[in-house]
Amino acid sequence: MTYFQLNRLLTTPDLVGQTVTAKGWVRTKRESKNVTFIALNDGSTINNLQAVAEAGILDEEILRKISTGACLAVTGTLVASQGSGQAVELKVERVEIYGPADPDQYPLQPKRHSLEFLREIAHLRPRTNTFGAVLRIRHALSFAIHKYFNDTGFFYLHTPIITGSDAEGAGEMFRVTTLDPLKPPRNDDGSVNYKEDFFGKETNLTVSGQLEGELGALALGKVYTFGPTFRAENSNTTRHLAEFWMVEPEMAFYELEDNMNLAEDFLKYLVRYVLEHCPDDLKFLETRLIDEEKLKPQTERSPMPLLEKLRFVLDNDFQRLTYTEAIDILVQSKPHKEKKFGYPVAWGVDLQSEHERYLVEKHFKKPVILTNYPKEIKAFYMKQDADNRTVRAMDVLFPGIGEIIGGSQREDDYEKLKQRVAEVGIAEESIWWYLETRKFGSAPHAGFGLGLERMAMFVTGMGNIRDVIPFPRFPKSAEF
Ligand code: ATP
Ligand code: MN
Repeated sequence: MTYFQLNRLLTTPDLVGQTVTAKGWVRTKRESKNVTFIALNDGSTINNLQAVAEAGILDEEILRKISTGACLAVTGTLVASQGSGQAVELKVERVEIYGPADPDQYPLQPKRHSLEFLREIAHLRPRTNTFGAVLRIRHALSFAIHKYFNDTGFFYLHTPIITGSDAEGAGEMFRVTTLDPLKPPRNDDGSVNYKEDFFGKETNLTVSGQLEGELGALALGKVYTFGPTFRAENSNTTRHLAEFWMVEPEMAFYELEDNMNLAEDFLKYLVRYVLEHCPDDLKFLETRLIDEEKLKPQTERSPMPLLEKLRFVLDNDFQRLTYTEAIDILVQSKPHKEKKFGYPVAWGVDLQSEHERYLVEKHFKKPVILTNYPKEIKAFYMKQDADNRTVRAMDVLFPGIGEIIGGSQREDDYEKLKQRVAEVGIAEESIWWYLETRKFGSAPHAGFGLGLERMAMFVTGMGNIRDVIPFPRFPKSAEF
């Protein structure tokens, strides 16, 4: 076998002098009188192979079909490159055309396309440098997530995608049903009779695997789930998707402090992993960002290039403070005093991303972990503090992103949890199984959720969450 993927071909000096085959898609073709240069990319790396065909080697028919977007197999001798910009190049002997791409119709031209345009051709955008880099980094992150947990004694628990509990409370849900929408079975009062639905009850797509994760942690000790998560919230923002991937570790015998330590260590591990394993893709994205920033007004430019920003996160402890302390800072802040915030700030309000970003980007200038939020603005399952006003919640806030992790120590007291369930109006019979874990062998435990795409935004520097997942799902969009 003389066929090699480019990540191997371009980095294995021993192959120089050998006859090899490369396969991939043409990025550019440049012709001069005596020679044709073909830049070929196969997706295994951001780097192209330069294939050089001397005049007379390829027949006219083949030469014509070699155009941007065409898919080829190129065979020739790998030689040390004459030009600068690459160490090796391929001296072409033979080209097989797998699939031509009519240059008059192929939408990806060798120039910079806007991200908005690329979203409309999401079936082809993985062939661009930017999306190639993002998707390889996304892969590296996903792999690193499994590696981190596997190496530190966690078990991967597969929690259900279809859920019968409407108590997760993390967001609006997508209904799962096999009933005929035009004539569903009805109860006497006219409401839909879900007893006749597939599962004999109302079911939805999961908004979080946490509740089931807790069941796992209270048996296996340390578990994590990592799977697709669905929220039907109609938030047309740059940080929300209707379908995204969430990583949720859940640990028996961890308290809030342990939970924070884990979150910080985990996030730093992921950043370090990508720095070590994806240097070429990061370098490309950094340059891309610098070019993009030049078009922005000075004040909106990010203060640090991408790689520096990633190293900065590794080198600094996250700032930890309570919600109450954060509110004090925000109340004293210039944008609050000058009425520049769009939303009010006072003890008890839910922080908006403008507030989170002020704390991270302007005040502390580093990642922040906020803890002990008012219980009214957090989920029912969070452990109540002794003051009866706050709960042991923690949100990790990142520059450019806002909330990247949400988590808490969980309420492990049966009576207190039951009371909270009643207070927020959840029917006890809908989560009796969850309550039973506190009735039988309860234990202190904690966990958190990290949105994979928010993390991918951070490490790639991409500004819109729709550009860090191959086929984004958001309101009015599920084309590809
Ligand atoms: P936000 O306040 O940003 O909407 P949330 O508080 O609703 O987030 P959690 O329920 O705490 O989110 O979910 C845990 C993590 O999952 C978040 O910190 C975030 O990283 C990610 N996440 C939540 N909702 C979305 C979404 N719609 N799209 C992508 N990631 C999300
Ligand atoms: Mn949250």
